Amino acid sequence: MSSAPDASAPLVVQKYGGSSLATPERITHVAQRVAATAREGVSVCVVVSAMGRTTDDLLDLAGQVSAGRHPREIDMLLTAGEQISIALLTMALLDQGLPAVSLTGPQAGILTDSSHGNARIIGMRADRVAAAIARGEIPIVAGFQGVSQAHEVTTLGRGGSDTTAVALAAALGAEVCEIYTDVDGVYTADPRLVPGARKLERVSYDEMLDLAACGARVLMLRSVEYARRTGVTIHVRSSFGEEEGTRVVEEEAGVEHAIVSGIAHDTSEAKVTVFGVPDQPGIAASVFRPLAEAGINVDMIVQNVSEEGHTDISFTLPEDDLARATLILDAVALRVSAAGVNADRNIAKVSLIGAGMKSDPGVAADMFEALAEAGINIGIISTSSIRISCVIDQDAVEQAVNAVHARFALQLG
Ligand code: ADP
Ligand code: ASP
Ligand code: MG
Repeated sequence: MSSAPDASAPLVVQKYGGSSLATPERITHVAQRVAATAREGVSVCVVVSAMGRTTDDLLDLAGQVSAGRHPREIDMLLTAGEQISIALLTMALLDQGLPAVSLTGPQAGILTDSSHGNARIIGMRADRVAAAIARGEIPIVAGFQGVSQAHEVTTLGRGGSDTTAVALAAALGAEVCEIYTDVDGVYTADPRLVPGARKLERVSYDEMLDLAACGARVLMLRSVEYARRTGVTIHVRSSFGEEEGTRVVEEEAGVEHAIVSGIAHDTSEAKVTVFGVPDQPGIAASVFRPLAEAGINVDMIVQNVSEEGHTDISFTLPEDDLARATLILDAVALRVSAAGVNADRNIAKVSLIGAGMKSDPGVAADMFEALAEAGINIGIISTSSIRISCVIDQDAVEQAVNAVHARFALQLG
């Protein structure tokens, strides 16, 4: 295609996830979709993830040669995954006669802080991408990667290509950021676990933030935060079909909230209990301060009623951080004379989310009843004004999500 670029053409950012690019046939299929959009006269900027399970396979490979923590080298390794995708998709588009050009995250001007493995975008210098679009080219940008001020390659955290796409949509002033994935939208629960889950036509930024924060990995949490801050509309849809997906947008004024909008689950956390802690001022701080200093995010926390001057503190944290946390906590336990530390990887968190539950006092009781009727024991409970989360046994997660979904079937969405 060598038609002259049209400065007034609408611009969309399209992001294709790993499963949409898993095989050469799927890459060809994605190229056809991008080509079809471009031939409609729409300017397109494409963001891609690594093919299929490439990121996991690379992490596995790293584990086979090293037991150490080498965040800089892991980023160097993982960014190779997205680089394979940009080159292959660009070749497929060039073969179709479209002027595509591949760009790495650094080439596309994604500037981040230096926190390897979980870097934050601190600036966008999208002029090279914008110039390519102005020339009528289709930039194919590697998601999930950026460059720090010290010129180091960084990655944005798992699922980070979603954030790359939203950041580019904001920087380029795109009409919409389309996230193409292997489901056709955001559902009331993970459709792979809950056959009766319903597709949402629209979901507000706030509700999507809570769904993502509670484990609905269809959108990375930070991509939703970025979209809300910059006002980018996200459209989650399937790369395998044509139907409309789900739009993530600003809440409509004057529209009454559904009581509950969705159920999310997360199996990526572990539960830790510090036993027999002296019940004194300052003890909780001495447990959690060293974890915070090590950059470990603690999620749900409960402290038991004190018995004979001692108590137990339980909390959840990312399973990936458990080994580091255990080392830290063993030292803390010695220092504060606690009885011991115990960890459980076999847990899941099930969360019910909905802005309307603020004004409905029965929601929590209904959720606990649904779990009780399914014979599922609750380990930890935490709530916010629009969320109730329960920690349960990981083996019961599918049953739990289905039980809660069935209980709220009529109110959902
Ligand atoms: P991609 O590789 O395209 O980024 P992901 O695996 O990151 O795809 O995200 C898509 C997956 O998110 C789906 O396959 C689905 O199992 C899961 N998911 C979890 N919760 C939801 C939900 N509420 N709605 C839709 N998908 C969900
Ligand atoms: N490839 C990266 C991951 O698997 C980034 C992404 O897919 O968004 O997490
Ligand atoms: Mg993803």
